[in-house]
Amino acid sequence: MSTDVSRFSPSLERLVQQIAKLPGLGRKSAARLALHILRQPESDARALAEAILEVKSKITLCRVCSNFTENDLCSICSDPKRDRALVCVVETPSDVLRLEKTGSYRGLYHVLGGVLSPLEGVGPDDLRVRELMERLQDGSVREVILALNSTPDGDATALYLSRLLKGNPAAVSRLARGVPVGAEIEHVDEATLSSAMQARTPL
Ligand SMILES: [Zn+2]
Repeated sequence: MSTDVSRFSPSLERLVQQIAKLPGLGRKSAARLALHILRQPESDARALAEAILEVKSKITLCRVCSNFTENDLCSICSDPKRDRALVCVVETPSDVLRLEKTGSYRGLYHVLGGVLSPLEGVGPDDLRVRELMERLQDGSVREVILALNSTPDGDATALYLSRLLKGNPAAVSRLARGVPVGAEIEHVDEATLSSAMQARTPL
């Protein structure tokens, strides 16, 4: 079907435009999904709209690690079986999910909220660097694992953090280079990610 069906209807066009904003969807796919929603029973369309609003209203960031949660603490921080002496620093909550899927890590996380990027004007104050340092203050953390993407900004951020952590008693390590250069954690397969975690290297 032509992607221009929406020219018959401003409301359909509005839906196509909103769906096309989602990552990985061009206008053609957006139009296909919009038409699918149009054909669905109203109850399904309502359930989709409500699910979108619900995640926006219920999900917040964990008070300790800034992972997604619906409570004060995320399920990882509130799990008594996790090793609290290990803190793995990642860029986003998606990276937490990826590492959790490997099943090879039993410590806690710290979501930075991005990486340093002078070009995009992202400095240490825009990330949760101060919060990380505060977490390490009581000396109970034995190792900080930097699981940042293997991109120039990820590398620069790892270097920045390892220098900042120099005076701290916690050892600092980085995921082994099984993670391809230039790769984002989110796109690395689980086996590779798991072995990179096992073979992390001290910084
Ligand atoms: Zn947490």
